[in-house]
Amino acid sequence: MKEYVGQCHCGGINFRFYSEDSVEIWKCNCSICEPLDYEHLFIKHDDFTIINGEELISEYSFGTKKAKHLFCKNCGIKSFYQPRSHPDSYSINLKCVKNPPEVTNIVYFDGKNKFT
Ligand SMILES: [Zn+2]
Repeated sequence: MKEYVGQCHCGGINFRFYSEDSVEIWKCNCSICEPLDYEHLFIKHDDFTIINGEELISEYSFGTKKAKHLFCKNCGIKSFYQPRSHPDSYSINLKCVKNPPEVTNIVYFDGKNKFT
């Protein structure tokens, strides 16, 4: 496992997490992931820490409200959130990670039909 860091666009929210250096990510076609082209990297809660900017995190939920979509109040970027599919993990937006791990597999998840 290696340590990685990520942030939102303005840099107000910073986080670190531990991950293998080659990973599987998910892409999802649901109504919230598709417009963002979000790249999901699932990291266990225990392997994830917010370094700073907790006070900038704003939350959005819809539908069953099980997923907590988190974004920066200042710049609007969703750098990680609590997904419905993995209750014990956060989903990190791989695009917000500095020197990200190598992607060796992409799972195309049919969230549009499974999670509505
Ligand atoms: Zn920001």
